Formats: sequence, structure tokens, C-alpha cells
Amino acid sequence: MHIVLVDTSRVVLKMVAALLEPHGHTVNAFTDSAEALAYVEGTATVRVLITSLEVRPLSGLELCWSARLLAEASRPLYVITMSSARNARNLAEALDSGADDFIEKPPGAEELHARLRAADRLTTMQSELIRLAETDALTNLLNRRAFFKRAHEAADRVGEHGRMSALLVDIDLFKRVNDEHGHDVGDAAIQAVARELTAEGIVGRLGGEEFGIVLPHRAVAEAEALASRLRHAVEGLRIRGARVPIRLTCSFGVSEWGEGDTIEALLKRADIALYEAKTTGRNRVVTAASDLVLQRAG
Ligand code: GH3
Ligand code: MG
Ligand code: MG
Repeated sequence: MHIVLVDTSRVVLKMVAALLEPHGHTVNAFTDSAEALAYVEGTATVRVLITSLEVRPLSGLELCWSARLLAEASRPLYVITMSSARNARNLAEALDSGADDFIEKPPGAEELHARLRAADRLTTMQSELIRLAETDALTNLLNRRAFFKRAHEAADRVGEHGRMSALLVDIDLFKRVNDEHGHDVGDAAIQAVARELTAEGIVGRLGGEEFGIVLPHRAVAEAEALASRLRHAVEGLRIRGARVPIRLTCSFGVSEWGEGDTIEALLKRADIALYEAKTTGRNRVVTAASDLVLQRAG
């Protein structure tokens, strides 16, 4: 596991790291708790934070709180506090501050490894639950909620003046597939289209046979090119039906991020463009006019 260690003493850090590294753990050690927190924030692979209570500039308890907030943002992170004074008050305070476990300083090898096995079990289970909660079961794409969450995070990173574009994709005349070939073939068609979409960006199944793609840092021309490639790829699909292979097409609405934009408005514009693609013949890519200004989603 990737472990971050925090203590004011380099001797303690060295000693604990020497217990961990031979067991295949990756260890990053810090004497400064604020630096440690910044590292944990920026490094998604960190699974365990082991901190002494007596650290600076953030106290061990403050560090626990901040790490707990990160973990609540759907990230598996196990926090262990270390203290030379193993009294009930320290233990209770640490657990109340968001620590998962408490260990004496300096820790004994056997106890430390047993606690890390518990951390491994818990964070593995947490990762799996997070994955299940974010995944659409039929297609393995992001579900609607996770798609919007990731899109909002991307928008925060891109910023007001950054570049970003979006696509909405809807299978054409899909009701007919269900009616003529049955729901199972319909499901297989949705899965086949979903597989074509997974190449780039943030991709989600937004509902029945409708998908969204957000492309952070990509201009609208790149989104149009992607939509065009995907349109051809879907045309090339042959879904196994009871009698003959089934062909499909999709319609695409494309939109571009603008100043003062929101994810809701970006996708609303893509939806208007998609509607136009539907009403003007289907199997088409339509880009929303950049001057199509919408009210901020309320
Ligand atoms: P359009 O070209 O205008 O999009 O026509 P359409 O027939 O695709 O229109 P509409 O969006 O109204 O139909 C979508 C259909 O998709 C309706 C619903 O029965 C079906 N559907 C929704 N979810 C699923 C699913 O998970 N599996 C299957 N097999 N069908 C689904
Ligand atoms: Mg449809
Ligand atoms: Mg639809």
C-alpha cells in the first residue's frame, strides 16, 4: 500500500519506514504536517496516513480532520494516529477527530502489520463500494450521478476561462430495436454503443439509450471530430439479433464551454443541438451555436 508517515522526528520516521518498506509498502515520510496533507490531497494512490499526534504546523488531530474530509469525498483513506502516551483521552480524541485507529509510538512490528492488514481490508472494500456506486451496471460506464460529479470536478479544474467541450449521444429509433428484437437485444445494443464511447474524456450513461461525454481541455472542433468518428463507428456495428444482424445509428449534440458557464448549461446546449440532429434526419452531428446563451441553471 502507499503510506504517508508524519512525525517531527526523522529518527522515528526512519524506524517506522524500515518496518514498512521490506513488506512492499511505498512510504513517503514528512516532518511537516501541512506538507503531508498537501501530498495526500494531490496523490490519489495514498491509502494510509500514519501520523503522530504531536506534529506541526497542523496538530495530529487537525490533520485527522482534514484527512477525514478527503476520505468523505469518496476516497478510501485509512488514518492511524501514533502517540507515546496511550491514554484513554488521547485515544477517544483521535477517534472523534476522524482517525480509524490508534497505535503506540514507537509501534511494534507485529501490531503495525496487523493494523495495516485491517486497513487493507477496509480500504479495498471501500474502493469496491465506491466503484459500484459510480458505475452503471449494464455498460460499466459512469452512472448519471458520477458523471455529473466528475464533470463538475473537471469544470473546477478547467476554470472560467479554460477550454472544455461536451457531447450528448442518443441511439436513433431505439424503441424499434426493443419492439422488433426484444429487450435483451436492446440491452446488447446499448452495451455495444457504450463500448465505442469509452476512448476519451468523462463518459457516462445518462439514461436509457443516452450518453454524455465531457472533454476537459478540448476545443469544440475536437469534440466534433470525436462525434464524427463515433458516428461512423456506430454505423459499423452489427448487433447479433435472432434472425439478422442489427444496425444502429446515433445522433450527436456538441457544445463548448464558455465564460461564466456551468456544466448544466453546457449539457443543456448539447441537448438542444441533439434535438436538432433528431429533427433534421438523425445519424447526424449538430453543434450548438456558441451564442446560444442560457440562464445559469437554477
Ligand atoms: P429517437 O431517435 O427519437 O431517440 O427515438 P427512440 O426510439 O430512441 O426514442 P426514445 O428515447 O423515446 O426511446 C428510448 C427507448 O429506450 C425507450 C425505452 O423503452 C428504451 N430503453 C430505455 N432504457 C433501456 C434499457 O436499459 N434497455 C433496453 N433494452 N431498452 C431501454
Ligand atoms: Mg433514442
Ligand atoms: Mg433517448
